Amino acid sequence: MSEAKSFNCPNCGSPLTADGPAREIKCVYCGSSVIVPEELRDSARRGTPQQQQRADEIVERLIVVTDPKEEAKLYAELDAIENGNEPLK
Ligand SMILES: [Zn+2]
Repeated sequence: MSEAKSFNCPNCGSPLTADGPAREIKCVYCGSSVIVPEELRDSARRGTPQQQQRADEIVERLIVVTDPKEEAKLYAELDAIENGNEPLK
């Protein structure tokens, strides 16, 4: 059984399907912009296993980080990984 990339619109509860690497899709039922859950995005599984692991670490860090500067740095690194660019060391 193949896993359908579907989830429910947080606004109206209608079933939506994640399509490709899009971070955000428009709900066809209520017209609101919906953030696609990380694990349903194609880009979330792009890159090397090391990059994927690093991305997972960053996502976990972002949950606990409170310093806006560090948060911005982590987001930049995550973006770089998702875009296939090595972050500057
Ligand atoms: Zn909706």
